[in-house]
Amino acid sequence: MPRQKFVAGNWKMYTSSSSGRVLAMAIASGVEDDRVRVAVCPPFPYLAVIAETLKGTPIALGAQNVYPAKEGAFTGEVSADMLRDVGCRYVIVGHSERRHGLGEQDDFINCKLRLAMEAGLDVILCVGETLAEREGNQTNDVLRRQLTAGLEAVSPTVAPRLTIAYEPVWAIGTGKTASPAQAQEAHAFIRDQIGGILGAPAAEQLVVQYGGSVKPDNAAEIMRQPDVDGALVGGASLKAESFLAIVNAAR
Ligand code: PEP
Repeated sequence: MPRQKFVAGNWKMYTSSSSGRVLAMAIASGVEDDRVRVAVCPPFPYLAVIAETLKGTPIALGAQNVYPAKEGAFTGEVSADMLRDVGCRYVIVGHSERRHGLGEQDDFINCKLRLAMEAGLDVILCVGETLAEREGNQTNDVLRRQLTAGLEAVSPTVAPRLTIAYEPVWAIGTGKTASPAQAQEAHAFIRDQIGGILGAPAAEQLVVQYGGSVKPDNAAEIMRQPDVDGALVGGASLKAESFLAIVNAAR
């Protein structure tokens, strides 16, 4: 069975409760059918409000982060159970802005992924190389390390609830995109690695999104690649018009 395309919007630290509601409503009313799986990931404070806005629509809710403990004295952190409680289906882990900006390591990301899965969240695990790593021909080594460590002790049975987002760090928020051929090469490599880690059936099922300056004018060509199953969208997810154009490109 062909893999269903999945487009998710990462709103990062943008929007307000009112602009987020307007954006979510516009996205919900612009998605014509369920051919493409669609999710939005607002900032923590707006999750409950957006959950309410999206009730009864096919648009799913995701969070941008989670803390890897069930509960406890972790001031300022948010657990997977809390995200479930507020209506999230998804959580993003391993985003480069947290790996590189906040120093999150693979083992920490793996703990988040496992606890989130245990709590019933579907996980989007971001992986990707920096420009220096690409120029140093280390892309495959970096992807292998991030996938192997990120999926340590994860059962193949969770594959249907796992999405990998290939996000070359040099393409995030920079306006530079991987060429369709570069994206395809990395995605095929990721699928191959997943075959080794979780087994061939899991690899075949696995949805691998591309992320990095996806815009309406480059989305169709990237998502036409055989191993590109959708997009994780940052900047262009903040306007309904551009996000919907990307969703349409996935159809
Ligand atoms: C992202 O934040 O995951 C992302 C891909 O951002 P942008 O689309 O703005 O490059």
